[in-house]
Amino acid sequence: MFPYGVTQHFESLAGDGQNDPIKRQFLPDAREDLPDPFALDDPLGEGRHRAAPRLVHQYRDRALLLAGGACAAYCRYCFRRVWLASSPGFIGGGELEESLAYLAAHPEIREILVSGGDPLTADNARLEELFCLLRQARPGLLLRVCSRMPVTSPSRLSGETLSLFRRFRPLRLSIHINHPRELAPLTRERLAAAVDGGIPVHTQTVLLRGVNDDAALLADLFRECLNAGLTPYYLFQADLAPGTAHFRVPLKRGLEIYGELSALVSGLALPAYALDLPGGGGKIRLCEGIIAGEKMTPAGLVYLLRDNNGKLWEYPY
Ligand code: SF4
Repeated sequence: MFPYGVTQHFESLAGDGQNDPIKRQFLPDAREDLPDPFALDDPLGEGRHRAAPRLVHQYRDRALLLAGGACAAYCRYCFRRVWLASSPGFIGGGELEESLAYLAAHPEIREILVSGGDPLTADNARLEELFCLLRQARPGLLLRVCSRMPVTSPSRLSGETLSLFRRFRPLRLSIHINHPRELAPLTRERLAAAVDGGIPVHTQTVLLRGVNDDAALLADLFRECLNAGLTPYYLFQADLAPGTAHFRVPLKRGLEIYGELSALVSGLALPAYALDLPGGGGKIRLCEGIIAGEKMTPAGLVYLLRDNNGKLWEYPY
């Protein structure tokens, strides 16, 4: 039971018709109830790397804190939809203490992704308290705040929020943006204020069928991001969350789109095309030659993808 929710601002970006690319991102769709033999409740396999109830430590020098337990608008393709459906709330109490203790005991962690859910759904007082505790546990820790709110509710990036961010530098903002229309005037203005104020901003985009599966449209998006002072960082192949199969672009088509995109934009405007390997294998860059073979499984035909260690992973055909 994934929640429904959208902000007035994000809804105002939508055009007519049910297939509008903005509407498709927040309107529930009957196809979410179709059976999907490939679906995984925990598509990134984060459970395999849980160091504490809300802390995932998969890569040596960085960890992910599931801080926010809600979002301002709910993306129907969300890869944490099963976790979010349990209404986890903002991190606190024993869950936070366990995370802080782990961070304090692991000096190899130099960067923390403050994610969720959307951490900016919490007010600034709670964010400030969280940032203070993280820095007490690990002085010098780089904070990477991951949020969709600059797009769904840009007024959240108020002057007060940006001054909070400035006080906790080194801090970087990682925003989730999928379509050129999402760069609305207020979003541009608030992100420009962030960049001008010394907060670097990176983008993450999910390749979504019927939303942005078009090289020219993605080229527009990333060029505009670059012109707005943002760094295009990742373009993600969709994960295998339940109820999201209708959003998945076939992997071979995704590789074609990325090839076309690479010819359209400069290297500065080209994010890395990547996949979080289903089941906890971590991120791999998707490129020509990544497909090592095909295999029939009980769920259906899959591609075999080879990770950096030579291990083979499966992704639906
Ligand atoms: S903002 Fe992120 S966590 Fe929230 S619903 Fe969208 S994809 Fe999921």
